[in-house]
Amino acid sequence: MEYRHMENERGCYCGLWQTNPATLTEQGVPPGFCGICERCGQPGHTRHFPGPVPVTGSWCDRCYGIVAWQGRALRLAIPAAVLIIAVIYLLLR
Ligand SMILES: [Zn+2]
Ligand SMILES: [Zn+2]
Repeated sequence: MEYRHMENERGCYCGLWQTNPATLTEQGVPPGFCGICERCGQPGHTRHFPGPVPVTGSWCDRCYGIVAWQGRALRLAIPAAVLIIAVIYLLLR
């Protein structure tokens, strides 16, 4: 038994192993995990996307780091794009 999963610091759905393990075994998820990674197909954890969009998905720890980085980049890209459009608008006036 791994206690770090019991504490659920990831904010993932590993609690399903206590409440509804059939949901996980039907999906072929091995014990200690609660999802299959969308990027690489390895066992991972189902959790909220760490970016500006309200999406829940499954990622292994390695891919979650990549997705989190992309989420941060996306959050910075939106104000940057607005700024660029504003500058272009001012220049063309
Ligand atoms: Zn989990
Ligand atoms: Zn992965």
